[in-house]
Amino acid sequence: MDIEAMAAEIRAGGRRALARAITLVESARADHRAQALALLSALGPGRQALRLGLSGTPGVGKSTFIEAFGSILTAEGRRVAVLAVDPSSARSGGSILGDKTRMERLSRDPLAFIRPSPSRTHMGGVARRTREAVALCEAAGFDLVLIETVGVGQSETMVSEMCDLFILLMAPAGGDELQGVKRGIMEMADMILVNKADGDLAPAANRTVADYAGALRLLRKRPQDPEGFPKAMPVSAQSGAGLAAALADMRRLAEWRRANGHWQARRAAQAAHWFEAEVRQGLLSVLEREPARGLMAALAAEVAGGLRSPEAAATEMLALLGRPVAGMAPGSVPGQVAAAGG
Ligand code: GDP
Repeated sequence: MDIEAMAAEIRAGGRRALARAITLVESARADHRAQALALLSALGPGRQALRLGLSGTPGVGKSTFIEAFGSILTAEGRRVAVLAVDPSSARSGGSILGDKTRMERLSRDPLAFIRPSPSRTHMGGVARRTREAVALCEAAGFDLVLIETVGVGQSETMVSEMCDLFILLMAPAGGDELQGVKRGIMEMADMILVNKADGDLAPAANRTVADYAGALRLLRKRPQDPEGFPKAMPVSAQSGAGLAAALADMRRLAEWRRANGHWQARRAAQAAHWFEAEVRQGLLSVLEREPARGLMAALAAEVAGGLRSPEAAATEMLALLGRPVAGMAPGSVPGQVAAAGG
């Protein structure tokens, strides 16, 4: 594969090249991985798109919202990429978000690019692939990269760690309960949009907005929020009501964060986080390969049989990996590593 040619096509905005590149970063094959890394480094940092995380339970109106919201942006001449993180596909290979009939209009829009979630991958793998897909979209010159996910906690945390703004899409609540939204998820939100604020549902939507606005005020004040944020507001993805206002607020928030250094600080912290996560995951993948895998099994059997203490077995295991062991004298580490490697 000609990496330079592919990079040039992506930079020129070629959507097929972008799609192929995302397939490449999604591949688990070692040779593909090497090509993916070469491609990402050939592309460099690219432009900084606005990375928007969007989460909501199935049926809340995410596809309807993205279709309408994305169309507002493309009508302005902006280029919009939509990536999906579907935790269900990580478990079952099935998919809540992968349905090809979603966002039909936007998917035909030449200024939009829609990519379903990679399937059959564990969450850590999905995180890396999505992050790399975001980088590819930025290299391809998209103005906005929307990362969509379904509300089940883990995937939201992951998405919030790779976006500039995190938006929660909610449905109007029937009663006075806040639909069991976990506090942790509320704390990630920069904006809560209560969808379906139209027709018969409008009064319930407005009540729900007031409830969430109240709940948001009770949260700890974050330095990255100007006055009035995080905020809750009503929208109707179906009629389009409130979407322009929501977009204006997102832009206002993003601008404020840029002007005050919070945007840059968040991206820096995210980069550091993903660096650590990659190292951790790399170490774990070493454990899954020989010779670590065999030694791990053998040591586990010895520990289970009472032949060795868990601590002693762990020390031996970690020595094999060439990692210094916590609490061990520094001088003893090289000898251990040499012994294990020999
Ligand atoms: P997703 O599963 O979150 O992607 O939700 P969908 O976008 O597929 O929408 C689920 C259902 O809610 C569909 O029947 C939509 O037509 C409906 N829906 C979405 N947005 C609105 C809205 O703003 N108002 C109303 N009344 N219905 C909506």
